[in-house]
Amino acid sequence: MTKRTAVAVYARISQDRSGEELGVRRQLADCRAEAARRGWTVAEEYIDDDSSAYSGKVRPSYDRMLADLAEGRRDAVVVWHMDRLHRRPIEFERFVEVCTRAGVQDVVTLSGDVDLAKGDGLLVARVVAAFAASESDAKRRRGRRKALEIAESGRPMMGGPRPFGFLDDRVTHHPAEAPVVRELAARALAGETLISLSTWLQDSGVRTVGGNEWRTTTVRQLLTNPRAWGMRVHQGQVIGKATWEPIITPEDGERLRRLLLDPARRTNRSARRYLLTGMLRCGKCGSPLRSAPKDGKRRYGCAMGPDHRGCGGVFIYAEMLERFVTEAVLYRLDSPVMDEVLTGDGDNDERARALGEAIKADTDQLDDLATMWADGEVSKAEWLKARGRIESRLEASRAEFYRVTHRDAVAPYLGRGDELRAQWDGLAFSRQVAIVKAVLAQATILPAAVPGRHGLDPERVEPEWRL
Ligand SMILES: [Zn+2]
Repeated sequence: MTKRTAVAVYARISQDRSGEELGVRRQLADCRAEAARRGWTVAEEYIDDDSSAYSGKVRPSYDRMLADLAEGRRDAVVVWHMDRLHRRPIEFERFVEVCTRAGVQDVVTLSGDVDLAKGDGLLVARVVAAFAASESDAKRRRGRRKALEIAESGRPMMGGPRPFGFLDDRVTHHPAEAPVVRELAARALAGETLISLSTWLQDSGVRTVGGNEWRTTTVRQLLTNPRAWGMRVHQGQVIGKATWEPIITPEDGERLRRLLLDPARRTNRSARRYLLTGMLRCGKCGSPLRSAPKDGKRRYGCAMGPDHRGCGGVFIYAEMLERFVTEAVLYRLDSPVMDEVLTGDGDNDERARALGEAIKADTDQLDDLATMWADGEVSKAEWLKARGRIESRLEASRAEFYRVTHRDAVAPYLGRGDELRAQWDGLAFSRQVAIVKAVLAQATILPAAVPGRHGLDPERVEPEWRL
């Protein structure tokens, strides 16, 4: 490795009550040790106290480091983890730009190097940064605490579409839908199949809240969700009585759960689903990877045998890989990548690009407004008024973008990866697949570095993006 003589070390203190953050002294000690191990000379240590901020606050040392990098005074950066360096993907993009211009290619984190000269290394770094950010965001943690607080009080969560059977306040029974829930429950308990129930709903002209046709999975979700019998569910767990009246009795509810969630009943293909089926290739032989569960854990693998002509050389556990790829997809739908997204083909390029820029500008403006409100620069009334105006403009742009580009699965979400991320787990599986497919052409999975270890190592994943 090249000798570096003017290395920047960066550390950031951030306020975090979860206790999982590392002290700045520990960050610095680790970074110094890493520089010493490489025989590098540290020129300066940059330290910021970021304790109050999620966004919009100044980080003087970080800015100073960027300036030093830009002016060629530093030749490498050592930082404890990417999430110390950047809080938002957009900052990461700026950092890469500065480093690229200044010819600085060595950015070392204690969790692995980032080679800014390599396109795929950069992508991995971006995804890792986005992934880490999504895991450790103080803002999200605050959001989660708030959500838990609301859940514990038994009140409904207001984001996303309303639940079927309830009005928009999520408490009052819907005069037309609540009886449908009751009838569905009675029929299911009487032994009718989910297919028959879905068909009955179709024939009766009953639609889901989103205006879609019912599927067996959505009917099952509806009938097994304890919400229907007045229980408050938080992250898949019943945590107490809700503030609303039950539509069906708790006894019936429990019977429905036993009946419809019975593993014996779920042996059909919907039981164990693989999000990335058809999108993964073996890095050794090029064959498509198939589902290859082992010891009850979902796994993708290059299968060998009479029915499959794979090499049997590549396996990877599904859970982490799917989360990783999903995160990458959501990240790509966010604004920094928008520009690239819009360099596609077709006659409508110009219009699509203009719309994309308009969407990005409006999204940025919404962010700025929120920051201004948080900083007390505008009143809440002013903020809401401006926000309403921008949001209706955004809706119009998004609708037109959707028409122009025909990217129906993802267009509504461009620049809104965060929003989609929040809804992701609640989306129908087919919807998740459609969104991933619209963004990811395919990914090659390389063999594990250590044979037999089929866990997720970002370096093993080589994505090929459509968008
Ligand atoms: Zn293979």
